[in-house]
Amino acid sequence: MEKKDIKSLYFPELCEMLLEMGEKPFRAGQVFGWLHQKLVTDFSQMTDLSKELRRKLFDQCFLTVLKPVQVKVSRIDGTCKYLFKLADGNVIESVWMRYHHGSSICISSQVGCRMGCRFCASTLDGLERNLTAAEMLEQVYRIEQLTGERVSHIVIMGSGEPFDNYDQVVRFLRLISHERGLHISLRNITVSTCGIVPGIRRFAGEGLPVTLALSLHAPNDQVRKTLMPVAGSYPLKEVLAACREYFEATGRRVTYEYSLVKGVNDNPGEARALARLLKDMHGHVNLIPVNPVKERAFERSDKRAIKEFKEILEKEGIAVTVRREMGRDIQGACGQLRRSFLEGG
Ligand code: SAH
Repeated sequence: MEKKDIKSLYFPELCEMLLEMGEKPFRAGQVFGWLHQKLVTDFSQMTDLSKELRRKLFDQCFLTVLKPVQVKVSRIDGTCKYLFKLADGNVIESVWMRYHHGSSICISSQVGCRMGCRFCASTLDGLERNLTAAEMLEQVYRIEQLTGERVSHIVIMGSGEPFDNYDQVVRFLRLISHERGLHISLRNITVSTCGIVPGIRRFAGEGLPVTLALSLHAPNDQVRKTLMPVAGSYPLKEVLAACREYFEATGRRVTYEYSLVKGVNDNPGEARALARLLKDMHGHVNLIPVNPVKERAFERSDKRAIKEFKEILEKEGIAVTVRREMGRDIQGACGQLRRSFLEGG
């Protein structure tokens, strides 16, 4: 019999499994609490269960636990970057940031990525595999335990494309916000996608009030295609229609991410085109000065160009912020730590 991934089970699935084991229904509440509130790393820590039940759980299930193999702490702002080892030896990274309103973590949804965005380090070696819901939860659980602080916000903006791993991402969202678990508000969670249209549309119907972030990066298909292969499959018109649908279904404003790359997508004409494109979209633009990746030739835009780009958007009535940089001294950006680890750096 294949062992069950107990931490990825929904509460009713856990109830059913325990009933099949001949246990009383209230046991499910106890086990779920050990897994998702007390964040245990071993069945032996579930001390109010009988030894016999712990043995049965051990025989029939496995417990996903991530091991931190490297932690880097930024001297500039206290941001921590964690490299975790998975049971199969793969490594993933997660970033913990402290803000005035609480702490936020950026988690990965896949090992590697197959989307191929030209400026992104996570995709250089392609996709290794999807993460399970438990492996996504564990990034939050381990970081809460290691820092001793509650995580208030989560962004799924680490390595991977969340809608290329749709089912496990949705499972993660339901479990992390479960009232018997960490109960993190879905309104404090952001899912970032490169723009997989069927994923966005399906997600709009899940009834999950999370913030959707769309990686836009260009005001037209022509430039977008030079940066993101996915733009060849889904034209901007369809991507934006899906974002509108998301806003209408959830009432949540979409964030449009725009990484500024010198000489590629950062001229004033492009700022004006972007303003026209987003005019009635009820969204918000987040400008990200591109983080140079050593395997790629892209450079970040000059400070002046960034300022001008932002001012044009503002003048056109578009809500815009420039992303604050966190952890720049610890390879805070996008897949860089995992890569340097794999290269032995
Ligand atoms: N696959 C998802 C989420 C992961 S990336 C997505 O594409 O949205 C999170 C964000 O960081 C995306 O907007 C991505 O385009 C951006 N990004 C990736 N590498 C970057 C880099 N080197 N500099 C700036 N932004 C980058």
